[in-house]
Amino acid sequence: MILILNKGVTAGEKEQLYDTLRSDNCLIKEIKSDEESVIGVVGKIKRDIRYYESLPGVTRVVPITKPYKLVSRELHRGPSVIHVGDVAVGGDRLVVIAGPCGVEDRKRTLEIARVVRKHGAVLFRGGAFKPRTSPYSFQGLGEEGLQILAEVRQETGMGIVTEMISTSHADLIVKYVDMVQIGARNMQNFELLKCVGRLGKPVLLKRGLSATIEEWLMAAEYILSEGNDKVILCERGIRTFETYTRNTLDLTAVPVIKKLSHLPIIIDPSHATGIREKVSPMARAAIAAGADGLIIEVHTEPDKALSDGPQSLYPEQFEKLMRDLYVIAPVVEKQLDFEYIDKSAMLRRSAQKAGEKTTEAVFNGVLGSFSHKACLHYFGAETSIENLTSFREVFDAVSACDASFGVIPVENSLTGSIHQNYDLLLEYDLKIVGELTIRIIHNLIGWETASIDDIKRIYAPPQIFDQCKAFLNENPHFDLIASKDTAASVGRVKKNNDPQEAAIASLETAALFKMTILKEGIETNPRNFTRFVVIAKEDTTSGPKNKSSMIYSVSDKPGALYETLKIFANNQINIVKLESRPVHGKPWEYLFYVDAEMNIKEGPYQKIIEEIRDKTVFFKILGNYRKGAE
Ligand code: PEP
Ligand code: MN
Repeated sequence: MILILNKGVTAGEKEQLYDTLRSDNCLIKEIKSDEESVIGVVGKIKRDIRYYESLPGVTRVVPITKPYKLVSRELHRGPSVIHVGDVAVGGDRLVVIAGPCGVEDRKRTLEIARVVRKHGAVLFRGGAFKPRTSPYSFQGLGEEGLQILAEVRQETGMGIVTEMISTSHADLIVKYVDMVQIGARNMQNFELLKCVGRLGKPVLLKRGLSATIEEWLMAAEYILSEGNDKVILCERGIRTFETYTRNTLDLTAVPVIKKLSHLPIIIDPSHATGIREKVSPMARAAIAAGADGLIIEVHTEPDKALSDGPQSLYPEQFEKLMRDLYVIAPVVEKQLDFEYIDKSAMLRRSAQKAGEKTTEAVFNGVLGSFSHKACLHYFGAETSIENLTSFREVFDAVSACDASFGVIPVENSLTGSIHQNYDLLLEYDLKIVGELTIRIIHNLIGWETASIDDIKRIYAPPQIFDQCKAFLNENPHFDLIASKDTAASVGRVKKNNDPQEAAIASLETAALFKMTILKEGIETNPRNFTRFVVIAKEDTTSGPKNKSSMIYSVSDKPGALYETLKIFANNQINIVKLESRPVHGKPWEYLFYVDAEMNIKEGPYQKIIEEIRDKTVFFKILGNYRKGAE
C-alpha cells in the first residue's frame, strides 16, 4: 500500500508512523516528490488499511493492486534512472552495452573493447562464467576472465557488465564488476536474486526463456525487496513455436514495461534472434519502440568465437548500426552520445577543478524549455545546469568562467537560423565544442477542464506559431498572443487560471507546470529539429572531430567569395552550411559563416585553412567538434 502523508506532517508523527509499520514487519520505502510526501509499504500487511489511514500524519492510503509492489509505477510514478558508474540508464541518452558473448582471452577481449568503445558503446559485456546448455561447451575463464574485464575498464573507461551464475561468486563479482547480469536461465533462481539484491551493485535482469512479464517483474521485486533499487530489465527473446530465429523478440515488452514499471528496459537483439543479420533491424526497432538501450554481442572474428559467433556482429556492422541509431534517437527524443565516456571524464575533471562551484552548463530560458532539454541530452541529468535570462548572459557566464559550458540554439529546420546567436559567436571569443539536434514536438497545453473548442487565446513565441501554422489555420478563432518563450507561455496560462487560454510547448513543460496536454504534436511538419551548439572558453573535449565552423569576410571584388569556396571544392570538403550576416555599422558588407565537414586540427586541413585565410580580409575559427545527428 501507499501512504500519502499530510502536507504538514511533523517529524514526530513520521517517527511514530515508522515505528508502527516496523512493528508490523512492513518494508518501508520513502518516495521523494515535490508535491507530496509518500511512503510505500510492502510485506504481509495484516491490518485493515483503514487503520493506517487513521494514524496521525496520514492523509490517504492507496492499496497497490499489482502483485509486484516496489517495481510498480503505482508506487513510483516517474521513470527511474539507474547509474552504472558515470552511465545513466533510463535517462535522455541511449546506453549501448557491447562486447563478446564470453571473455575468451586477453588480447581478443581488449581488441573487441577498443572497437566497440570507438563506435560508441559505453559499457562492456563479456561472460566470465557462461551458463551453457551443454556441459562440454566453453564455460568461461572464471576469475581470469574478470581480471581481463577489469583491464578493459582501466584502459577504455567502459564499465563492466558480466553474468553471475552462483551465489558463491559474490565476492568476485563485487571486486570486479560494475553491473551484474542475471541470465535468462537464472531469472527465477531466487537465492541468486536475493544475493544480488544484497550486493547493492546495479543488476541487469534478463527475462526468462518462458517467463511472463509478471513473473519477470516479480523476479525484479525480489532484488528490490532486498534493498537494491538498481535494476535494469532486459528483454532477450522468449520461447515460442517459431524456430526460424533462436527466440522470438517480444518488443511489446518495451511499452508494456514502461507502463507497469518505473525500471529502465533495454533490449538484447543478439540472443533474441540468434542470427547476425537480424540483429541490427531489431536493434533499430527496439530504439524506435522506446527502449532505454541495447546489449549487443560483437566479435572481431565471429567464426572463431567460442560461443554465440553466429549472432555476433562484425565491427563494421556494429559501427553502421550505431550510426543508424544516432539518427533514429532524436526522433524518439533521445540522443546517442558518441562522446559519453570522454564527456563524463571531462565533467568529472572540471568539477574537481572547480571545487565547490560546479555550475557546468548554462542556457537561456526557463526549466522545461527546449534549451534545457538540449542541456540534459548533451550533459545528462547529473550535471549542474543553470538557466539564465538571455543569450548574452550565457556568453558572459562562459567568458567569465562562471560556467564551463553554454548551450545555445543556432538553427531550426523549419524557421532557419537564430541570428542573434550567430552575432554573439562573432562578438565573443568562445569556442564551439559540440553540437546536437533536438526534435521539436509542440503540444497545445491548457487546463484539464478545457476543450479545444473553448480555447480563445493561445500564447507562444512567434516562431512557434509559424511552426504550427496548419493547426492554427484550422482554428481561425484563436487569438494568438506572442510571448518570450514556451515555458513563460505555459506559466501565464497557469497564472491566469482561465480555461479559455492555452499555450504551445513541450510535454516536459506541461509536466513541469502540472498542466494538461489538450492536443499532442501540433507542429505542421513532424521533421522539426533544432540544432544547438555547445560553447566553452577552451576546447577541453577529446574524441574524434569531423566538423569545423568559421566566420570570414572577403574583399569587395568579383569572385572573392568564390575563390574561398573553390578551395573547399578542390579539396573535396563538404560545406554543410553557409550563412551570411551583415557587418554591423557597415551597410552592404557581409560576414560568411561556414560549417564544413573537416577536422581543422588534422595535418592536411591546417594547410587548407591557411589557403582560405589568405583569400579573406577577416577570418575567425569558431570551433572544431563532432558533428551532431541530422
Ligand atoms: C548472454 O548474455 O551471453 C546470455 C547467456 O544471455 P541469456 O541469459 O539471455 O541467454
Ligand atoms: Mn551469448
